[in-house]
Amino acid sequence: MAKLFFRHAAMNSGKSTQLLQIANNYESMAKTVRLYTAAIDDRFGVGKITSRLNIQRDALTYDDHFDFLAADYAGIACVLIDEAQFLTPTQVQQLHRLAHTRHVPVICFGLRSDFRGEPFPGAAWLLALAEDIEEIKTICHCGRKATMHIRRDGNGQRIKEGPQVVIGDEARYHAVCARCFYA
Ligand SMILES: [Zn+2]
Repeated sequence: MAKLFFRHAAMNSGKSTQLLQIANNYESMAKTVRLYTAAIDDRFGVGKITSRLNIQRDALTYDDHFDFLAADYAGIACVLIDEAQFLTPTQVQQLHRLAHTRHVPVICFGLRSDFRGEPFPGAAWLLALAEDIEEIKTICHCGRKATMHIRRDGNGQRIKEGPQVVIGDEARYHAVCARCFYA
């Protein structure tokens, strides 16, 4: 049965690597997948999904106005979405409907919370609607499980306020455990 999946993790957890591995698995069975990533994320070139292991694939992009239900999914065995924290609540509803009315599994990979410790709206809706939720584990520098993010400026100073989305300075984000987040 097709359903909506949410695979969430902190940054640098290998989310994109897992996404590309799933794409590979489908294709090794001669099935076609559809890859999407957020148009907002142009670190590696628009419409690319890049893993830490330097595997890269082209992907379609979605912005805030993209309608997932307007696309044609004939022959598509699975829809894979990277940077799913950037989905709007409406888009998460569209993807949930897509899985259950057109019987295409939709697997979303993304972050849960931002550097302020607040949920991304897309992630909050995925946590509400996805039937299958799994955490991809990654480790804080202290050895505990990392579940949150902190952001630092160029001098290493912690930044606790500001806009939720600042693309392109990923090196200044660090995945940490909750204890280190509140330290
Ligand atoms: Zn820690």
